[in-house]
Amino acid sequence: MKITLLGTGTPSPSIKRQSSGYLISVGDDLIVMDHGPGAHHRLIESGHRAIDLNYCFISHLHYDHCMDYARLVLQRWDIGADRIPDLQVYGPHPIARMTELLFGEEGVYGPDIRARVEHQGSIDIFEARGGKPPRKRPEPKVTEVRAGMKVEGNGWTVTVGHASHVQPQLRCLAFRLDSDEGSVVYSGDSGGQCPQLIELAQGADVLIAMNHYYSGTEPTAIYREVCGNHKDNAIIAREAGVKTLVLTHVLEQIDQPGVRERIAQEIGEDYHGNVIWGEDLMQIDVQPPRMAKME
Ligand SMILES: [Zn+2]
Repeated sequence: MKITLLGTGTPSPSIKRQSSGYLISVGDDLIVMDHGPGAHHRLIESGHRAIDLNYCFISHLHYDHCMDYARLVLQRWDIGADRIPDLQVYGPHPIARMTELLFGEEGVYGPDIRARVEHQGSIDIFEARGGKPPRKRPEPKVTEVRAGMKVEGNGWTVTVGHASHVQPQLRCLAFRLDSDEGSVVYSGDSGGQCPQLIELAQGADVLIAMNHYYSGTEPTAIYREVCGNHKDNAIIAREAGVKTLVLTHVLEQIDQPGVRERIAQEIGEDYHGNVIWGEDLMQIDVQPPRMAKME
């Protein structure tokens, strides 16, 4: 199993860090978790295309986690030319309605889709790509999920968990993927020391956790309950017994030389596993990093 961080940023504008997106390669499958603005560009930079993956999990409908969902679906549909299975999508309510409002007959991309299905020039391109008219509309297979549900794949299982974030306005999920190759937990956006996240992450090889800011600098207690910070992440990682903690969803304020090291050092006071400061396009093995001998 290999994890590629597609986007480790926040809603704040950044060239260095795109918004949330994580690519997991497990067995023969490529799975994307979240697809915020810029994540799809990183997917292409990582050497993959929309048609290479069949599964998309969305943690919640904040735009920095799902804005490139439309790009993923449309590019996959366009280049796939009806030769590949429909994309399997899992996310919280109302992702089915969002999908319909994007790609339905009366949806945002309805006129574009109609033109590509009906115009002869577009049909010619579709056939050149191996498609056989009449062309289907994009029809991602959407399943709305909630904490406690499981999604079974080919040699892997995703368990849906609870994230402590901006309920009740948005339903917010975390995901745990287990396979023979290892286990990875993605917190989605989760703040505080969420007990359900600690339970979900028990014994996982890797925990990818929102680390929005430096603990103690939050403007309010409520903010701390909804946005991840380094001291709470240290406790979560320790209590869950994860082998590696990956920090992501990083604000520019803490992405500074000296601050990064201080955060890692302070996490080390409570948690003795591996700490990785996430960067866009970083590849992470589920096996803990080994110290190579000097030769
Ligand atoms: Zn969020």
